[in-house]
Amino acid sequence: MDYETIIERIVKSTGIDRKLLTSKIEDKIKELDKLVSKEGAAHIIANELGVSLIDSDASQDYVNIKNLVGGLRNVIVMGRVVDIYPINSFQKEGKESQVAALSISDGTGFVRIVFWEDSIPVFKNIKEGDIIKVINAYVKENKFGKLELHISYRTKVRINPEDIDPKSIPSASKVQRQSERIDLIELKRDMNIKVLGVVVNVFKKNCFFNVCPDCGKSVKLDEGIYMCKEHGRIEPNKKLFVSFVLDDGTNNVRCTSFGRDAEELLGISTKEAVDLADSHEDSSYPIEHVTERVLGKEVIVYGRTSFNDFSNTVEVITNKLISNINFENELAVIFNEVQYGDKD
Ligand SMILES: [Zn+2]
Repeated sequence: MDYETIIERIVKSTGIDRKLLTSKIEDKIKELDKLVSKEGAAHIIANELGVSLIDSDASQDYVNIKNLVGGLRNVIVMGRVVDIYPINSFQKEGKESQVAALSISDGTGFVRIVFWEDSIPVFKNIKEGDIIKVINAYVKENKFGKLELHISYRTKVRINPEDIDPKSIPSASKVQRQSERIDLIELKRDMNIKVLGVVVNVFKKNCFFNVCPDCGKSVKLDEGIYMCKEHGRIEPNKKLFVSFVLDDGTNNVRCTSFGRDAEELLGISTKEAVDLADSHEDSSYPIEHVTERVLGKEVIVYGRTSFNDFSNTVEVITNKLISNINFENELAVIFNEVQYGDKD
């Protein structure tokens, strides 16, 4: 098959822009150190886009999620629904409109699918764990540079289609375990998360609370004495805590760390913090003292999200904070996540 025929075939079955396709082929030739011909590179791209160049091979008519590129118009994608987001209503040209989204994984990657007005009824029929096949969706890069599939009036959505073996796609729980690391833009309440981000703000306020030395529960001063519900009158220990804002480039979130996590973030021990506070007679002084070196710090936060009714936002309580990041390890983890799917 000659180069032009291959190009025709790819454009016809994916709707990809011809210029974009040509530049992808040129990139592929460069990537492979010019060891491959134009035709050869076009074959590789066709394969990556799920375009069969052999007429008899109709076994896979869909594009693997990892091979999606912005600008594709008529793609067929399938995968298991791993996350369903709430329907959002908004005003558009004076009338109420709706938008909703869900995420699917086919084992090669994740993609969010966006449903608009007319497709909301279909969206409502989809449950987590379902397998869906989306025919004639278009691929769009969102403002965070992530690819999304959009449903148009030409798109067909098949729920649990008979031609897909459910066993061929990882179950939602397996996929969710794999997807522990998240972008903050995807943050929701009640998630266990791992985020790599930068500290962009630290709240200067009292950074201690009092805990019972026996059980570690927080105690309050009551008429000059500290009482633990369980242990009666006690002399409390001070426990360090700090609230800060973490930004990962997609969004930011308020986090609170206690004890060892707070020490790790601030780079001082609780005892040093107590001494600083005492000598300045200011319980927020330890934060002020270290703010400059904490701002801009790159940290990995493991934690649990919850919804704050007062601020109307999702916040994170950390349960592990790492500030000396081993970037080689982190890159290995990201690489593994990208490669996941090739292993099956
Ligand atoms: Zn106690």
